[in-house]
Parts: sequence; structure tokens; C-alpha cells
Amino acid sequence: MTLTERDQKVIWHPYTQMLTAAPPVGIVRGEGACVYDENNKCYIDAVSSWWVNIHGHAHPYIAAKVAEQLKTLEHVIFAGFTHQPAVELAERLLAILPDNQQKVFYSDNGSTAVEVALKMCLQYWNNKEQPRTKILAFNNAYHGDTFGAMAVSGRSAFTAAFESLLFEVEFIDLPSAGNIEQLKNHISSLKSTLACFIFEPLVQGSAGMLMYEAEYLDQLVQHCKQEGVFTIADEVFTGFGRTGKRFASYHLQPQPDIMCFSKGLTGGTMALGITTCTQQIYDAFLSGDKLKTLFHGHSFTANPIACAAALASMDLFLSPETEGNINRIIESHQEFAEQIKTHPRVKEVRQTGTIIAMEWETGADTSYFSNLRDTLYNYFLDAGIILRPLGNIIYILPPYCITNDQLQYIYRTITQALETI
Ligand SMILES: *Cc1c(COP(=O)(O)O)cnc(C)c1O
Repeated sequence: MTLTERDQKVIWHPYTQMLTAAPPVGIVRGEGACVYDENNKCYIDAVSSWWVNIHGHAHPYIAAKVAEQLKTLEHVIFAGFTHQPAVELAERLLAILPDNQQKVFYSDNGSTAVEVALKMCLQYWNNKEQPRTKILAFNNAYHGDTFGAMAVSGRSAFTAAFESLLFEVEFIDLPSAGNIEQLKNHISSLKSTLACFIFEPLVQGSAGMLMYEAEYLDQLVQHCKQEGVFTIADEVFTGFGRTGKRFASYHLQPQPDIMCFSKGLTGGTMALGITTCTQQIYDAFLSGDKLKTLFHGHSFTANPIACAAALASMDLFLSPETEGNINRIIESHQEFAEQIKTHPRVKEVRQTGTIIAMEWETGADTSYFSNLRDTLYNYFLDAGIILRPLGNIIYILPPYCITNDQLQYIYRTITQALETI
């Protein structure tokens, strides 16, 4: 039996309608920007395996560091104990974050990093005995699939079955020249009830790579700070170079109070989440009263192997070679955008850093569930490229090690799809 056949007997896949979905492709190994199936067919991973991979698959340097760590210490309880990879990672991450970020809290993934951020803010106000329970978020936001993360995400088909159980959130539109004053007034009118404002800086990934200008987010974050509302930059997707800077928050002047990381944090090797915060937030949990403790933790909090992978990924991320690769991808995307933006079937092209997205002119159903989406997905898969259109939006966000030839092949295939589908 093939992997695919064995899989179908026992596995339930994420975001997959198991009745109608095509059988999954069995992958046996990865190298650079490619993964290989059971027949040794190469697929270029143009979506970085759900946006996590930044240095390519099975990277030998990360693999060596992980193997070394495995032989030294695989895991230890993180309450009452600590270890070298967790300490070093916290030190090195804080060194490259905005300088108001002072403490690192570990968890397992992006959703848990968001849960921790929300709990920090809500409990901050509780500990201060001025409870605030409302959270401000953007329409169409995506912050994860656990309940708290789902609650602060835009209401959609994904959250519909749980709608009545999601806590109250104040949703606002993305800021622009036209609405910024109105948004500020709205925040001012709610300020004493708002615990925090959570946002995906510059790019709303799951919403379809919706991009907005740093200038107006800047004003919104600044305004929240003036009004005493904490700001949470969810950099789970935008962190580690995706937007062209190390972190998207570096496109802003004011520094967020809390930041969330996962995805690229370990180079896409291991599951790990991090929430960082300011001294002010941390200090509000210091008390002789034990009830003011942040009661949150996961079995695998700060797993040493995951931390070792993150440290190895950080070495690669901070190398001049990676910086060069990021700039090369940005320029390459810009050239491609220029070429196709006038194509009659392209409604819009947008780019932020290494992320490029094209909106396909259809006239018909453009939802996540549209047939066009499936047709495009299969077209690219046949061509040996992993692209997962969000409805009629095709996006590319490759591992930074992708070669120019591979990039050009992806662009050519997209252009061909525009001509033939
Ligand atoms: C993917 C994502 C999450 C959730 O991360 P998981 O590791 O999938 O739980 C949260 N926020 C943003 C912005 C994301 O893109």
C-alpha cells in the first residue's frame, strides 16, 4: 500500500472535507525549497508549508543542532526548572526585538502564543482591580483556531459553528486615510472597557493576504498607547523576515506592548510558540497574592529540541546570505508584479516583502470554497508546485533559499494558468 492509501484508513486532516477532498500526496523527504513524493516527483513549496519554513526543508545545519540537543536533553518540566536552549533563545530573541520587549513566555504554537497574549492583558486589568474584558480586533483577522484565538478572529465560515460561544470582541475595519479619525474616536469612546487591541501587522494572511499601510496602523497603535489600551502585534506569520524587515513591527514607530511568534520561529522545523511582553505587564503579576500568578502552561512548554531548532534557525536568519536572499525574492516579486499587473485576468497584484498575492478576475464565486480555487490548486500540483489559493487569490511566499530558477518557474506556471484556465 502507498502512504496515501494507508493514510486514508486512519487519518483526519486539517481544513479538509474528508468526503470530497483529493487524496493527500505522500511526501517522503525534503531538500531546499522542494519536497518529494513516493515517486520522487519534486514539488516546489511555494507556500513554505503553511508559512512556516524559511530556510528550506531538512536543513542540514538545523538538523545537526537538533540532533545534538536530542542527545543532550530532550525535555524537562519548565516550572521550577530551566535549561540552556530556552535561556539562550530568550536572550537572543529579545536582543533583536523592539527594546521595550523584556520577558519571554513559551508555549507550543501560534494559537497558544495568542491565547497567552490575551490572558496577559485580561489578567493585567484584573490584577490591577480595574477589570476590562473587551478586546479590539480587525474585521477579517485570523489569530488561530483555539477558542480565544478564534474569538478575536473575524467571524467567518470557519467560526460559524461556535459563534454563540465566542466572547465579545469589538471589530473595526483596517485603518486608512478615510477612516482613521473615526477609528480613533471609536477607541476613545471605549477605552475604559478595552483590555487590548490585537492585530496582524501590515498583512492579514488568512483573509487573503490583505495588505494595509504601516502609516495608519502606526497612528492606531499610537492612539491606543495614549488611551492606555495594550497593543498586541501578532507576528506569528509576519515575523522573521516575511515583510522584508526582521519583524513587521519595525515598520511602525510605536512599539507594541506584546508580540506573538511561531511559524518561522524554528525555521519551520518544530512546533514552538513565544509571547513577549513589556516590564509593565510582567510586573503586574508580581505579588504576595498567589492568585495574581499567570496560571498558564503546556506540557511541552519551552521544549529544548524546539528551542535548539529556533536557535539554529536564528543563526541562519541573521546571516548575510539570508538577508541577500530576502532582498533577491523581493526584487524578483516586484519584477513579476510589473509584468502581470496589466494582464486582463488579474484584478490586483499586491506585495509586502517576500509575500506576493494576485487576485484573479472571475466574475463568479470567489470564496474559499469556490471551484476555481480547486482547479488552480490542482493545476499547480500537476506542475509540481505547492500553491494553495485562498478563493481567487493566489499567493507566493517561498522559503528564502528558493533559487531564481524555481521562482521563475512558479511565475511562468502562474502566467500559463492565467492563459489556459
Ligand atoms: C497561523 C497563524 C496563527 C495560528 O498559528 P498556529 O500555529 O497555526 O496555531 C495565529 N496568528 C496568525 C497571524 C497566523 O497566521
